[in-house]
Amino acid sequence: MQNEFSILVEELNEQILYLKELGVENFNVDLPEADSSKFKVLSLKSDISQEKLARFVPSDVEMLEAIATKPTNASVEQNKPRTSILEASKLSSLPKRNSTISNLLNNPKEEQTRENTMPVKTSEEMPSLFGEIVQTLPESIETIEEIRLDIGNCTRCTLCESRIKIVHSDGNREANLMFVGEAPGANEDAEGRPFVGKAGQLLNKIIESIGLKREDVFIGNVNRCRPPQNRQPTPLEAATCKPFLLREISVVRPKVIVVLGNTATQNLLGTKVGITKLRGEFQDYFGVKVMPTFHPAYLLRDPSKKRETWEDMKKVRDFLNQA
Ligand code: SF4
Repeated sequence: MQNEFSILVEELNEQILYLKELGVENFNVDLPEADSSKFKVLSLKSDISQEKLARFVPSDVEMLEAIATKPTNASVEQNKPRTSILEASKLSSLPKRNSTISNLLNNPKEEQTRENTMPVKTSEEMPSLFGEIVQTLPESIETIEEIRLDIGNCTRCTLCESRIKIVHSDGNREANLMFVGEAPGANEDAEGRPFVGKAGQLLNKIIESIGLKREDVFIGNVNRCRPPQNRQPTPLEAATCKPFLLREISVVRPKVIVVLGNTATQNLLGTKVGITKLRGEFQDYFGVKVMPTFHPAYLLRDPSKKRETWEDMKKVRDFLNQA
């Protein structure tokens, strides 16, 4: 066990040093030396929960997202697949970090991917094994216009084949409140603006219910192009488009993000936990409060859920009033 623990510490040290090299901030953690003789590990399995370790170690996706916030030279990089941009930076050589943790804490017969086990972080709990790591939004030096220029006439995923218009995020770029949906529908695809159909009209009412106007908030989707027949975006499509949204979040820096519906919640937070379990409780995303709630399109199909959405929005309103 001590040897395995030393390997784990070595791996964590490597990861943190590498993240610092890449410019990721707020990793002021001093890990102990990976000298097994200096440790007396009594009961790792019972003392340290898998959840705590998973929170301590940023996921690969989070690291990629943090790096993806760095602006690219739009004139050169426009339409260049982001994966190739990331490969060009040393990211493709990042070591796999889960093997040791899985070996230590999981039943080997039930090997799980990190995505399956990654818990959603709450803002109240940010524990770590050796020190406090508070993930915050990377500082952004780009503008929304530069991000759109980088997106260009995007063909980075297959959704480009059937779209009419790319639907960029829209609204107040200094908003305290941001809404994030799954992907555009037919009306949005035609107009090139998010949430302009019936669901958009209901979203306007939801915004007004907490004393704000649509012009006060910033609204976007994880995916900017309409999926054919309004199907769910695939995980690859979502992962390809999401970095643009994250860069926008870093520019706008809202105090609260209301994420609408199951797919958007799971894609934004990188969790498999469903919306019915997550809604109504603030989650944390790089230090930003995230309130998952039902998508307005779902509320149109099942108006009985409006009450729960109202309860969620009251929490958002109260938080914003106190912030
Ligand atoms: S959904 Fe996003 S990544 Fe895919 S083509 Fe549209 S803008 Fe590009």
